[in-house]
Amino acid sequence: MKIDILTLFPNMFEIPLGESIIGKAREKGILHIDVTNIRDYSSSKHKKVDDYPYGGGAGMVMQPQPIHSALEGIGAKDCRVIHMSPKGKTFTQKMAKKLSKEERLIFLCGHYEGIDQRVIDYWVTDEISIGDYVLTGGELPAMVVVDAISRLIPGVLGQEESFMEESFYNGLLEYPQYTRPSEYENMKVPEILLSGNHKKIEEWRKLQALKITKENRPDMFKKYINGENLSKEEKKLIKKILEE
Ligand code: SAM
Repeated sequence: MKIDILTLFPNMFEIPLGESIIGKAREKGILHIDVTNIRDYSSSKHKKVDDYPYGGGAGMVMQPQPIHSALEGIGAKDCRVIHMSPKGKTFTQKMAKKLSKEERLIFLCGHYEGIDQRVIDYWVTDEISIGDYVLTGGELPAMVVVDAISRLIPGVLGQEESFMEESFYNGLLEYPQYTRPSEYENMKVPEILLSGNHKKIEEWRKLQALKITKENRPDMFKKYINGENLSKEEKKLIKKILEE
């Protein structure tokens, strides 16, 4: 996948998108990420990129010219251009999965009070928010979305099962994880996980996933238990939890 990020602060992306799993995927050539400095495209003498809002009000607004020229410069015509914005649709794992199937994505990061609406109307295909709060810029939100999408691209994670078992993938939050040693500071790993009985382990994990989802995300739990594809075993576990 090819990802372009348009920002006024390109240095912010260096470490978060250069290390660990994403860094390795870039090295392997599975993922190509180019970060473009919008300021480089400003046609003004002093590389100005923002101005006061028409109609008054606090803060500055990013001007259309540098962004329009940057998008033209990277060849964004007919591409999916995603504007990171608190006014966008809230990002979910389902959206990440859909976007991970695209060949090219372009992320546009706002700053200050945001971006002149004309450039949004002209270029933007999707507006995504990472939650109901306001950050200083679209850089952190773009990193969040790029990370969530990238790890779903085949070959980026070691094993496909790594994300198939994870929270949100199948409508539940993930069960608790443990590793060696089996006893630490008098705290023991649940016996069942050391038993080698895969069927029992799977059942225990499903029960834990159902419990934690019920506790932390009653909305997801309700949706899950009303789903059509529940197995006989799952129905039994759900009954047990509801009776507790
Ligand atoms: N005036 C804007 C509003 O009230 O909707 C907020 C502007 S915010 C200070 C500056 C930039 O940060 C936005 O243009 C956007 O790119 C980014 N941003 C802030 N919060 C965000 C969020 N929750 N999700 C995605 N992007 C966000």
